[in-house]
Amino acid sequence: MNITIVGANFAALAAIRRIKQHDLGRSLNITVVAPKPEFFYQPSLIWIPTGSRTRDQIHVSLLDFFERMGVHYVQARATGCEGGGRTVLTTAGPITNDALLIASGGDYLRKAPGIEHNALIPCTLNDAERAADILGRMTGGNLAFGFAGNPNEPTAIRGGPMFEFMFCIDNYLRRIRQRKHFSITFFSPMAEPGKRMGPAAVKGLLATMKKRGIHTHLGHKIKGFKPNGVETEKGHIPSDMTLFIPGMTGQPWFAKTGFPLSPGGFLQADALGRVEGTERVYVAGDAGSFPGPEWRAKQAHMAELQARAAADNMVLQLSGRPAKQTFRTELICIVDTEKTGILVSRFPRFGMILPPLYLMHLVKRGLEWWSLYPFRSAF
Ligand SMILES: Cc1cc2nc3c(=O)[nH]c(=O)nc-3n(C[C@H](O)[C@H](O)[C@H](O)COP(=O)(O)OP(=O)(O)OC[C@H]3O[C@@H](n4cnc5c(N)ncnc54)[C@H](O)[C@@H]3O)c2cc1C
Repeated sequence: MNITIVGANFAALAAIRRIKQHDLGRSLNITVVAPKPEFFYQPSLIWIPTGSRTRDQIHVSLLDFFERMGVHYVQARATGCEGGGRTVLTTAGPITNDALLIASGGDYLRKAPGIEHNALIPCTLNDAERAADILGRMTGGNLAFGFAGNPNEPTAIRGGPMFEFMFCIDNYLRRIRQRKHFSITFFSPMAEPGKRMGPAAVKGLLATMKKRGIHTHLGHKIKGFKPNGVETEKGHIPSDMTLFIPGMTGQPWFAKTGFPLSPGGFLQADALGRVEGTERVYVAGDAGSFPGPEWRAKQAHMAELQARAAADNMVLQLSGRPAKQTFRTELICIVDTEKTGILVSRFPRFGMILPPLYLMHLVKRGLEWWSLYPFRSAF
């Protein structure tokens, strides 16, 4: 039996490990399709602009891991599907399967006028590195940090990391005694940015900004990005470097799968992680739109929970049993400042936010080590 997995990051790797735990008789062949055989630890991008991390420190080759797991790796990009998902079209040719997991992540909306040239989207490595380069050359000026959502799908938003980029840069400028030469503004079309983390989190984040002398420009629609700042319905935000995370959306190739898409352009999944209306086609992580509470988030550990459920269900179905595995929905994040971390968590029955703690910064660093170590180690 052949399983194809599209993607090679959090969701894909969690699925591979889970399938191998089930498949003691090694009767399942796994083919992974991804542009690079590398694990890219995106949560540590927040430390790139301040020079605390480099490209090499947050990437690990997966070639040894694939060999250990007996995975057949195809260096390619998926471009579409045929036959209800039984064939994946790729830049290296078609690949057939008995079960398919799509774990190729999401994309960002880049529709705002001027965004391409006048804003950096630091969720991409190149832009995070450009931010480090520009910041390193600046001796003072205006910095603007912001994020927005996808109007068609409220959960398709990546706000938390932008607070981290901003607080880390603020702390870095204080550390090198340059903060007084910079003016920092946080902007968002949302009046209560970070609302999904809970009302206490919004209050805490706004209070932290006030304490650090960060200006806010909230609740006004973004009209566009210019070389000298951001234009909103309520005026101009001066900026010499703008970091912005747009709303998220699905990848363009999803439209060529023939599968149902959510209003925001993601693959529409059911509670089992199955792409709606398909046979043995699953989605996990940022690529999918899943049912759940309105505060659900696109996070690495959610990607892993969804991937393990999808792996369980694929194995069940391939052995002739019905899929039945669901996954928990949780929101757990540490908003890091390079000095402290604020733990925010939400579960179906309760939520919790802790004050800024050095310990939580250490936990965030520990999680990075914990995630990368298994792929660095030969065992
Ligand atoms: C700056 C930042 C900070 C973050 N901080 C946190 C955090 O603190 N905690 C947390 O839980 N989450 C965090 N996240 C979110 C987390 O990184 C994502 O939710 C997670 O990466 C999603 O995993 P994924 O496997 O679904 O997709 P991805 O990690 O995006 O991986 C997609 C994989 O698919 C491959 N791929 C892409 N297109 C194709 C294609 N056409 N064909 C084949 N392969 C393809 C890619 O190369 C990659 O291997 C952060 C994200 C960012 C950007």
